[in-house]
Amino acid sequence: MKGIFITATDTGVGKTIATLVLATLLREQGHDVGVMKPVQCGGVDAVFLKKSLQISDPLAEINPCFAREPLSPHLAFKREKREIDVKKILAAYGRLKQKHDIVLVEGAGGLMVPLRDDYFVADLARDMDLELIIVARLGLGTINHTLLTIEQARGQGLQVRGVLFSEAYNRKRGIPEKTNPDIIRRLGNVPVLGTIPWLKSLRRQEIVRRCALVVNCKRLLEPSAGLSASRQKQLVKWDKKYVWHPFTQMKDWLTDEPLVIDRAKGSYLLDTKGDRYLDGVSSLWVNVHGHGNRIVNARVHEQLNKLEHSTLLGLSNTPSVELARKLTSIAPKGLTKVFYSDNGSTAVEAAIKIAYQYWQNTGRKKKKYIAHLANSYHGDTLGSVSVGGIELFHKVYKNLIFKTIKVDFPDCYRAPKGKKYPDYAFECLDRFETMLKKKHSQIAAFVVEPIVQGAAGMIMWPKGILKRMSELCRRHKVIFIADEVATGFGRTGAMFACEQEGVSPDILCLAKGLTAGYLPLAATLTTKRIFDGFCFDYKDQKTFFHGHTYTGNPLACAAALANLEVFEREKTLERLAPKIKFLAGRLKMFYNLPHVGDVRQRGFMVGIELVRDRMTKEPYPWQQKVGVQVCQEVRNHGVILRPLGNVIVLMPPLSMTIEELGRLLDVTYRAIGKVTG
Ligand SMILES: *Cc1c(COP(=O)(O)O)cnc(C)c1O
Repeated sequence: MKGIFITATDTGVGKTIATLVLATLLREQGHDVGVMKPVQCGGVDAVFLKKSLQISDPLAEINPCFAREPLSPHLAFKREKREIDVKKILAAYGRLKQKHDIVLVEGAGGLMVPLRDDYFVADLARDMDLELIIVARLGLGTINHTLLTIEQARGQGLQVRGVLFSEAYNRKRGIPEKTNPDIIRRLGNVPVLGTIPWLKSLRRQEIVRRCALVVNCKRLLEPSAGLSASRQKQLVKWDKKYVWHPFTQMKDWLTDEPLVIDRAKGSYLLDTKGDRYLDGVSSLWVNVHGHGNRIVNARVHEQLNKLEHSTLLGLSNTPSVELARKLTSIAPKGLTKVFYSDNGSTAVEAAIKIAYQYWQNTGRKKKKYIAHLANSYHGDTLGSVSVGGIELFHKVYKNLIFKTIKVDFPDCYRAPKGKKYPDYAFECLDRFETMLKKKHSQIAAFVVEPIVQGAAGMIMWPKGILKRMSELCRRHKVIFIADEVATGFGRTGAMFACEQEGVSPDILCLAKGLTAGYLPLAATLTTKRIFDGFCFDYKDQKTFFHGHTYTGNPLACAAALANLEVFEREKTLERLAPKIKFLAGRLKMFYNLPHVGDVRQRGFMVGIELVRDRMTKEPYPWQQKVGVQVCQEVRNHGVILRPLGNVIVLMPPLSMTIEELGRLLDVTYRAIGKVTG
């Protein structure tokens, strides 16, 4: 705990007095207390606090943003033709934090006071990463104001440390004054820190004499809230007893000590103990704008209060219509229809069935095979496993999956023995063309993960291959399916990876980042030509016979719309470019580690391949689990990663800052050094 944000139910409730009282009492207990009033319009609060507490910090640090007129900050600053500078506030807070044990940050008015047209006091508290003390007036009317403030705070993901009452008048206490604290403690489910009585003077002795026994400031110093020790234990026990984890050997799991995540904020996950971990793989490649993004949170909230779910089978709903329109407007050219499902596997499953049925419906019945790349990954349902190339999964389920046509992929790092990149890439292309010439009349579609083959180990496509393959498919009337479940939504630096080579697929599969990592949703986009292959008379029975119960879920669609809104508002892609450069620069250093065989990066997708011998590229045996070991090691230093075999994957949220990226790289570098050293 380094700071606390002091807000109130209204202006004039006594925030500044409360700040003074808390600072005085904490000092009395021997703590070095700093204060801050980040935004002030008119008045002398900051000067008053500085003087009363005899604080030596410069006023510019205590109050970085000042406007003369006593108005709502957004207005006061607008009238001076200025804007509140949040960066400046954060920088000043950063300095104060280093000088003091605790910094009391006094807000301006209440939580919903606008600092700019689209930025409120609550947003500042979130950006400063502070928990709240709510100062409330004692007396009639306070229950409503206080409960509203608590609800608003929680709705915005802010933690409320407690409510502190302030007696603004020197009057006899009636029934409301006597009962308010307990009612609010109960109905608001919050701790009450006490009541600051009416003070005749604000001298130190008077504050200590009147408040020391009735205001509990210990709560301000407690470390950030984790769950109780018994609750932590219980969750671990129940997890082991009841949960079956995906892609996990449960025998190992039962003997390991699992991390249970309870909260998250920005680039960080917090476990039940309250420990913070940098989310280095975007919670398995889904998170885009950080956890608890205020816009996405707000939009999902708004939608929740309108409609949680209604089916797309025979009905429509507002967010799914709006999202379909929006997606077709940003997708590569020609994709004009959106079919919804729930996850990446079903997006691909739908794509395959659409492609197959398209030819059945339009009279080319022999076109029934799906071609795919040898080392691809498209999901875990049987259809998507069938078009996947990961040997292990194929072996286990071989009697359940259908026959496909495998196409070699020109892997730049691991070309077959005796072959060299780039010759090998052209050889693969030639073979692809020969195959298409021979078999196109039997091939319905060709499915790829454009630009980056994610699950295969972050394998990057050589330049130009995607474009050529898509052209060859077009020429031979093979439907080109781009599975951008992993690469979509900015991952490679462009909104969609296909844009990197100006490719417009016939079908595009989206999931993972679609909802910014909030809710399960997928979309399969098709061209009008393919869509028209399903529009016949009812009696022809050429309908697309596919649909999931939660298709087009309004909450998920609202999250996806919010995701795209944030891309626009925060200029996410523009701001990503320098961060991609930073990553590229720092990643070069990894070659200093002798067991790093290959470092692959495209945008915010990174794979660091560890090898036993760099010269021969001899892999570590899989039994040695070097990837897992590295990920265990980074966890000890507050970073979450998940490897793909011997490849360490870095896939940070697009919102991760340069500083956080730096830390992610440092911790990873040291962990690889330690494990392979
Ligand atoms: C993750 C992934 C899938 C599968 O998505 P799920 O939501 O896990 O079913 C499919 N294709 C690609 C390229 C992926 O990365």
